[in-house]
Amino acid sequence: MNCDETLNLLDPLVDGELPDREQGAVRLHLDGCATCQHELRQIKELREMLRQAPRYAAPDSLLNNVREQIANVADRPALRPSWNRWVRPLGIKPIVTHAAAALVGAVFFYGAIQMFSAPATPTREIVAAHVRSLMDDRLTQVSSNDTHTVAPWFAGRIDFAPLVKDLSAEGFPLIGGRIDYLQDRKVAALVYQRRKHRINLFIFPDTGKQTEETVDRSYNGYNIVGWRDKNFAYWAISDLNLEELTAFSKLSVAM
Ligand SMILES: [Zn+2]
Repeated sequence: MNCDETLNLLDPLVDGELPDREQGAVRLHLDGCATCQHELRQIKELREMLRQAPRYAAPDSLLNNVREQIANVADRPALRPSWNRWVRPLGIKPIVTHAAAALVGAVFFYGAIQMFSAPATPTREIVAAHVRSLMDDRLTQVSSNDTHTVAPWFAGRIDFAPLVKDLSAEGFPLIGGRIDYLQDRKVAALVYQRRKHRINLFIFPDTGKQTEETVDRSYNGYNIVGWRDKNFAYWAISDLNLEELTAFSKLSVAM
């Protein structure tokens, strides 16, 4: 088993969802590979953080609905492997059956509607940054619902000027902003709210290939939507359902 194969199986390994035979192969590789060991440690650290993370609890009616949906498809053993693939975050292009699509649509807080082929994304880093911001009481360094307060705050703190949009009329009031770190660089983090859900919108310069493609990801109950424009990459993350987070991302696209 090589590194790529191993890395793809680390999440199910941590979840205890890997069949014995694959587990053996993964552990054998791990014994001799520092890179994959490092990745495994990171996954475990992130999982621990996620366990402690504050999160808006879903209403009982929704939970019951979701449990029902899961029970309905749990009888179909063929679905289990593709389900595992769904929640694996990186670089996977799953073959989606109609049943799996229906399941994922129903289970929206696990739900990525579709995974497009896209540049590898720092999914775990984005989740970790989001969770940290909620835990450490450091969600915002500038707290204001006024774009004219938040936008200038970034000047001199980072070497680019993120567009700060007022989306309160659309139901996404601005909370504030802060500097965060992704992939070893400073990024702008704008914080919005939808009901009780916090949304982090990470923005950083990215002059890579421009694409209008939007990328949806899901990791441990957090939805992530990413897109690019001419100059910047954007990642929105929240425990908000994917539908509303996608609506938010469309509103946030710079005009
Ligand atoms: Zn390896």
